Parts: sequence; structure tokens; C-alpha cells
Amino acid sequence: MRSRIVTRAQPLRVARIQACAPITTTPTSTPFRRKEAAVQPRIQTQPQNRVFKELPLSDLVRTLSVLSVAALPAPLLSAIIGFVRRHSSSIVSSRILSWPIRRTFYKAFCVGESKSEIAANIATLRSRGINGVVLSFAREAKLDGSETNAAAGKEDLALKSWVASNIETISQVSSSDYIAVKFTGAGAKAVQAMQNFKYTDSTMVDGLKALKEGMFEVCEFAKQRGVKVMVDAESSLHQPAIDYLTLEAMAKYNTEGSALVFNTYQMYLKASLENLKSHLQIASSKGYTMGIKLVRGAYIYVEPDRAGIIQDTKPDTDAAYDEAVDMLLRGTHTTTEKPWTAEVMLATHNTQSVDTAMSLFRSRPAGKQPVQKLVFAQLMGMADEISMKLANDIKAISAETKANDVSVYKYSVWGSLEDCLLYMLRRAEENQDAAARSRVTAGLMLKEIGNRFAFWR
Ligand SMILES: Cc1cc2nc3c(=O)[nH]c(=O)nc-3n(C[C@H](O)[C@H](O)[C@H](O)COP(=O)(O)OP(=O)(O)OC[C@H]3O[C@@H](n4cnc5c(N)ncnc54)[C@H](O)[C@@H]3O)c2cc1C
Repeated sequence: MRSRIVTRAQPLRVARIQACAPITTTPTSTPFRRKEAAVQPRIQTQPQNRVFKELPLSDLVRTLSVLSVAALPAPLLSAIIGFVRRHSSSIVSSRILSWPIRRTFYKAFCVGESKSEIAANIATLRSRGINGVVLSFAREAKLDGSETNAAAGKEDLALKSWVASNIETISQVSSSDYIAVKFTGAGAKAVQAMQNFKYTDSTMVDGLKALKEGMFEVCEFAKQRGVKVMVDAESSLHQPAIDYLTLEAMAKYNTEGSALVFNTYQMYLKASLENLKSHLQIASSKGYTMGIKLVRGAYIYVEPDRAGIIQDTKPDTDAAYDEAVDMLLRGTHTTTEKPWTAEVMLATHNTQSVDTAMSLFRSRPAGKQPVQKLVFAQLMGMADEISMKLANDIKAISAETKANDVSVYKYSVWGSLEDCLLYMLRRAEENQDAAARSRVTAGLMLKEIGNRFAFWR
């Protein structure tokens, strides 16, 4: 039987499902405010200014050079990004042009191309206290008209190749790791079916059958290898179908007391908190563990109805993110069925969100909680000071409490320079948006280099 799924683009449906199966929150829960969550951390954390002390000089210099490109004036950087995008194939095929990109941007943002290179880089991350990776294949779908009009035979090949590359990605990681799955990478036919999807229309649901079978094939292999499958959130055009497919996979694979499959919730969407609550209701009624990745959301600039669906301001998005964290970690949301359980990954570069969540998690009363473990994640090549500080704090916490319930992961992509180029351009653009944070990272790195050369001290 089909599950009843509330999709993000259908806030009215959220209300309808709630009316059928009311979801209640505890009467004592009050609206979340950032300052209310400022619980004192119980563990003494590492001083922030030496978080990079484990990094070799070559890594510091490389990251600084990448950050300095991101700090160029916006019009100049946009012109460079546009140029690279237009001439990507010539750049990749030229040894002179590709060499510096490979040594700087590729090394900063991508984990490698061959199995041995990927394994060596993951081992290096682990040696620095990072618990593992969320690995993604870098090749991204080109969603232009030519793809959607392509022939059906070719489309089946695209789906097959999507399944094969996800399976290959699973074989690159170990059992404590995750892979990231992007449904729009499954080819034009799949993307068209996702765009047509309406939960209420059985023909449109049937249109996703091949993609669902492909996803189950990926999950089956992941299950054998003990690797978790993290589904990325995308634009609201595709998200209802992504929610449907991911919940179907969770209902099949998250039934043994832990989560194999994770869905992503973009808290910049006004409907996300209600959506998340509805999905918790579905999970509890069907008796499976929810896998939840919380992000703020990366598609703000491509959403056609930005004002209608996205939070009005950045502080509103921050508040929504923190409210979801608060609800999950305190377990305040109740369902009419049996209590829900969830595994949670907080994918963010926001220091305040990380600190608040960590404090809240560590100060919870002892006893059975719906969320037993907390995982943080940052993108490779970004917010390294947050990842390294978390790694240090986690080490201190485990030494003191013997608990292993917090971890930090890096979301990393793999693939050839050509595959990774589009991904790197998106990261370069994002770094532009995150200029203030990049300055913090650069400042801490410069201080670390200064410390190493201050031989007179
Ligand atoms: C490991 C990892 C995995 C990720 N996976 C996904 C994914 O699957 N799907 C996805 O969409 N994103 C994903 N992201 C990106 C994420 O959604 C954010 O874009 C990015 O992390 C920046 O947000 P932040 O929480 O780090 O904090 P900040 O840098 O403090 O917040 C920036 C974010 O705030 C929001 N924002 C900015 N301005 C406004 C405004 N005017 N009004 C409302 N909101 C605003 C936007 O979401 C923006 O990205 C991922 C990020 C990480 C670290």
C-alpha cells in the first residue's frame, strides 16, 4: 500500500493530514527563541584559535589560496566563474590550465578520483578526528531542454548509470560512512517524472516506479555494506517527488531500529517544520526510524516563488532551523501513534547553530530519548574551523564521558576534474555568499601559520 506523504509544495495537504491524524505538541513547549537555547556547555572546549594545529602547512597555504580567490570583488569573481563555466572542457584538457586548479580547488573541495586516492584522503580526514564522510559522485545533471526531450532508450541508460554510480560510490566508503544521493542526477526521463509528480494522481505516482526501483537497488547494496544513504534536498519543483521516494525507501529500509535512509529538510522553506512533523507522524505510525538531515537550503536563488515559500528573512530561517533542532533534540513533538525515533544529521556551517545544538544535546536529562546520537556535517573545503573544533570537542567529550554519541562528518565529492568542475564553481559561488565566514577561516589559518613561524616566542 502507498504511504500518505505530505510534500513540501502542498502545505494545504499538511493541514488535511493533520486533520485526519492530529499531531500534538506538548502543552509545555514554548516557541523557540535563540537565546532560550543558550544552555551552558558542560564540557570545557578547545580554545578556538588553535583549531588548525593538526593541519600541515601545505594544507593551510592551499586553503588560504582558495579563500583568497573567493574574497575577490564579486563582479570579478563572477566574471572568472562565468569564463571557467564557458570554457570548462578546454581548461580540463589543457595541462597548463588544469594543473593549478587540480592542486588548489580540486584538492580543497574534492576527495579524489581513483579508489586509492579517495581511501587515502578519507584516512587523512579520520586521522584529524573527522569521523567519516558523506560521499557524493560529482557529476551533476544538466537540466536543460535537450535532456528532457531525449529518447526513451537513452533515458533508461541514464537511470541505469545513476544506479551504477551510486553503487560505485557505496563501494568507495566504509560501513560508518554515508553516501549522498541526488535524484535529479537520474536522467531527463526521471526528472520529467519528478516534475509531473502529484501525490494525488496515481498515474504520476506510477511515473516514478522506475526511479523508485533504482533507489531500492541502491539501498539494497548500501544495506549489505552497512553504508547509510542520505538523499539531498533540491528545488521545490522536484522536492515533492523526492519526499515521496525517500519516505518509501525509509519505510522499507529503516525498520530495524536504526536509519539506513535519510531525507533532507530545508528549513528556509516556510512549510518545512510542519512537513517534518508530518513525516515523524508517518514514521511512528508505520514503525520505522526517521533519518533526518537538517539544512537551511541552497536553492534560494532558483526558486520562482521565493516570497511565497521561503522564509521572509535570514533570521526567520535561523529561527526555523533552531526550532527544528530544539524539537528533535528535546523530543517535544508527540505523535498520536507510538513515540517516534530518529537519527539526526545537522548539516550546517553556522557556528551558533552548532554550539546551541551541542549544548542542548549534552545537557539533556539522562534516559531514553527519541534521538540517541547527533551527527554534524560540513562541506569539504568549507568551514574547516567548525569541523576541526567539533573534532577536538568530541575527543574531549568521549575522554570525559566515555560516550560516543556525537560525531562530525565531511560531505565530500569524488570524480574526475571535469566531473567536479561544476560542483567547484557552485562552491566558489557559495563561498562568495559566505564571505564573512571565509574571513574567519582565513584569519584563524593565518594565525596558525604565524604561530608556527614565531620561533622567537
Ligand atoms: C553537509 C551539508 C549538506 C548539505 N546538503 C544540502 C542539501 O541536500 N540541500 C540543500 O538545499 N542544501 C544543502 N546544503 C547547503 C545548506 O542548505 C546551506 O545552503 C549552507 O549550508 C549554508 O547554510 P548554513 O546553515 O551553513 O548557515 P548560514 O551560512 O548561516 O546560512 C545561510 C543560509 O541561510 C538562508 N538564507 C540566506 N539569506 C536568506 C534570506 N534572505 N531569507 C531566508 N533565508 C536566507 C539560506 O538557506 C542560506 O543558504 C548542505 C550543507 C552542508 C554543510
